[in-house]
Parts: sequence; C-alpha cells; structure tokens
Amino acid sequence: MFESLSERLERSFKILKGEGKITEVNVADALKDVRKALIAADVNYKVAKTFIDSVKQKAMGMNVLTAVRPKEMMIKVVHDELAILMGGEAQPINLQGRPAIILMSGLQGSGKTTMSGKLAYMLKKDKKQHKPLLVACDVYRPAAIDQLKVLGDQLEVPVYSEEGNKNPVEIALNAVQHAKAKGNDIVIVDTAGRLAVDEEMMDEIENLKKSLNPSETLFVVDAMTGQDAVNTAKEFNERIDFDGVVLTKLDGDTRGGAALSIRTVVDKPIKFVGIGEKMDALNVFHPQRMADRILG
Ligand code: GDP
Repeated sequence: MFESLSERLERSFKILKGEGKITEVNVADALKDVRKALIAADVNYKVAKTFIDSVKQKAMGMNVLTAVRPKEMMIKVVHDELAILMGGEAQPINLQGRPAIILMSGLQGSGKTTMSGKLAYMLKKDKKQHKPLLVACDVYRPAAIDQLKVLGDQLEVPVYSEEGNKNPVEIALNAVQHAKAKGNDIVIVDTAGRLAVDEEMMDEIENLKKSLNPSETLFVVDAMTGQDAVNTAKEFNERIDFDGVVLTKLDGDTRGGAALSIRTVVDKPIKFVGIGEKMDALNVFHPQRMADRILG
C-alpha cells in the first residue's frame, strides 16, 4: 500500500524534531513530498502545485518555523487548506420550481442511473415527503430504461418512459407535463451516456438543458477514473455549465483526489458522493471528511 499523506508528513517533519528549529528549506522539502503524495492520490499535477504554493505561504504566515509543534501545525495547515479548496461547507441542491427538475449528466458507467434512483429515494424519505418522478431518457439503450424501471419498482417511485420515441427532449418535456398532472413535485431526468465524450452526446445533453431549464444539473463522475475524471468534468462544464458534481464509487480503493482536482479545475461544488450500489449508499459531500480521506 501507498504511504498515506499524513504518514509522509509525519516522516518529513520527524527529521526536524531533534534540530529544535525547522528551516524554510526543510518545509520546502517536506512539501515536495506532499506534492508527490497528492499526485499519487490522483490530484491533478497543476492543482497539486497551486495547492502546495498556498500551503507554503500559509505556513510561513503562521510562523510555522518558530512554532512549538511544527509538525502538527503543518498537518493541520494541509488539512484545512484541502477542505477550503473543496468548498468549505456542504452545498444543497436547488429544488425550485413545480416540478423542480434535476438533470443528470455524465459518461456511461459513471453511475448516473444508480444515482438517479438514490436521489429519488433520498427525496422520497425526506421530511418534506417529496413525490419524485424518474424519467428514462436513454433512447439508445433499452437496458438502461429497464434498469431505471427496476429501481423505480424497488423504491416505489414512478418511472416515465416512452417506448419507440427516439427524441429525448420530447420525452423529458412530456414527462414534466405528466408530473404536473400526477402531482410529482420533482422530476429526475436520467440521460444517455457514451463511453467517451462525443459531439452527438454533448449536443443532446445541451439541448436537454436548454429545453428543460432544470433547477439543478448534476454531473456524475466515477471517482475511480482519477485524472480522466477531471478532463471529462471540464468538457461537460464547458458545454452545459452544470451546477454540481456527484462523485460515485468512493467505496472503491481510491483516495478521492479527483474531488480536489475537479473542484479546483471547474470551480463547481461537489454535492453528493456514491458509496456503494445500494439505494441508500449516498452521502452529502463533506469537504472536511474528504480532506481526512485524501490525507489518509
Ligand atoms: P450509468 O451508465 O451512468 O447509468 O451507470 P450505472 O448507474 O448503470 O452504474 C454503472 C455500474 O456502477 C453499476 O454496476 C452500478 O451498480 C455501479 N455503481 C454505481 N454507483 C456506484 C457506487 O457508488 N459504488 C459502487 N461500488 N458501484 C456503483
């Protein structure tokens, strides 16, 4: 296993103990180590560099060189800076509008359909007793529609789909009318995803966003995809200017550095994390907890 970031920090600063005083050179060396560890935790190279520069500045500003416990102080500076960069506080989703519309975007396999179900479940059991409607807009893969129907049955949440209709915008707009008629206050639109970003896919999600004017557009991304996650996030953000990110598969063996990279590169909040395949395996994103995880 990799040495964790906090272990590295411990080690880097241990040498300093005997000397009584640490120097700027010692700090710079230790931070170089931290940068390597961040990159090993899937943090984008540029993001890691910016991060280290700002930690260094803070540490110097806090007179870490003359502190009684410099090592502990450095670890705290790194931790706090990670949390600040990831947004400080958890951010809620916008549920304005009747019905409120949540548009799900992302690559195939990222966990969009699963997350649509999880959100429906979370909203259904919320104390406001929402009545979500799930909408199957993946017109290319009948299996995806079936998958959503199975989830809907399991959660006792209605699923809207139109067999034979190949126009996702039409299906989604009809679903909104259906929701109004049936008293569903939230519509969650699950869209098609491709294995890689392509023009057709981007046009489709862009059209859906324009036509639906959702209160919340979420970009779903697999945390296990590391650096690729950042590039995909960037491409989606440039086209659809999404409102928030959902990081899935954090139950896997990843340090979650993608969270820091995505947040920094696209400057959009991470709102939820997926931590398993079951419908309750959804957490609100907490920057402090993610900082703990990245530090290890
Ligand atoms: P979509 O193509 O984006 O709709 O992706 P799916 O929702 O079909 O998910 C793809 C696969 O990832 C499925 O096997 C899901 O069960 C699995 N999956 C989704 N979210 C998570 C998660 O948070 N943790 C784990 N371990 N698996 C997940």
